[in-house]
Amino acid sequence: MTADLLQPITGVDLWHLKLPVVSRRDHGVGTVAGACEVVVVRLTAEGGATGFGEAASWAVFTGSPEASFAALDRYLRPLVLGRPAGDVQAIMADAERAVAHCTEAKAALETALLDLCGRIAGVPVWALLGGRCRDRIPLSVSLADPDVEADLRLVARLREEGVGIVKLKAGVRDHAFDMTRLERLRAEHPDLDLRVDYNQGLSPEEALPRVRDVASFRPAFIEQPVRAPLFDAMARLRDAVDVPLLADESVFGPEDMLRAVRAGICDGVSVKVMKAGGLRRALRTAEIAADAGLAAYGGDMFETGLGHLAGVHVIAAAPAITLGCEFYQARWYLADDILSEPFPVRDGAVRVPDCPGLGHEPDPEALERFAVRTSTREAA
Ligand code: MG
Repeated sequence: MTADLLQPITGVDLWHLKLPVVSRRDHGVGTVAGACEVVVVRLTAEGGATGFGEAASWAVFTGSPEASFAALDRYLRPLVLGRPAGDVQAIMADAERAVAHCTEAKAALETALLDLCGRIAGVPVWALLGGRCRDRIPLSVSLADPDVEADLRLVARLREEGVGIVKLKAGVRDHAFDMTRLERLRAEHPDLDLRVDYNQGLSPEEALPRVRDVASFRPAFIEQPVRAPLFDAMARLRDAVDVPLLADESVFGPEDMLRAVRAGICDGVSVKVMKAGGLRRALRTAEIAADAGLAAYGGDMFETGLGHLAGVHVIAAAPAITLGCEFYQARWYLADDILSEPFPVRDGAVRVPDCPGLGHEPDPEALERFAVRTSTREAA
């Protein structure tokens, strides 16, 4: 069985997908409306086994889908073709040197490599990441609809389905609008685990009074009120408010996490495979946070169920990620997900798959239907 991991990778196929979404969403620094875009990569090994991965970017946050596609198509594909499927660490080290940034493309590549290895070896991806510490992950759904009543109707539906955590996206309109939403949510759902995310939406001058007002609603945490590089402003807010402050855009990977710990900018971090540039780097980010006594949360970008699955396997293998996850888009935001089976959510929690690889794979028909660009190449 182990020798099978030495078989060469013979195919690298790419799809740039445009996926319709069910509503507009306003987040601090940007809006998503109409569709979101991801890049899917499929690796094929000589024996016919396949592995899939997804690059989910957001142009105002991590990068563009065009950059992800180009990184995979031009710079990462030559590192993969002909290499043994099991050479994950060697390939990812080369990927780091081959193209700067493009963390979502590297995340897609490592996801596909681990999915492929898991399928060849007959084990789930979480087993390749050190083993499982949990089999269910509490799910948080984000509220970002400019229509408050629509969001409240969504919360009522979510409660019926067992979801007990919501994250309010704030800082897009005026402060009064956010206060009204928080008042309504607290009044109608007093037992809800409520979190607030500014997505960098506040200026350092206006942040403190606004964050203080939000803190009076006792959210579990307040996430990234100011722009990513403003470490001093984050540290001042953390000192001034007694609700935990979470870093998201300020911390992409382990290197940022070390700087964030030293600068004391946060009480916790939103760990994302797409920001970290892969599953193992996401794990390291969470571990550094935990070693410094900070909390960690499983965040995501605008992903399909395939993108979510990479995060699911990381959190399944990460005791440090204790605040649940936000893998809701596949079920509640995309008009249609691309997985062949529904993304596994039950009673307000994501269920960790225990079959080989990621545990689910994309429906080939969906890849063709939503593709705006493809690229196929086999080893010469
Ligand atoms: Mg965030």
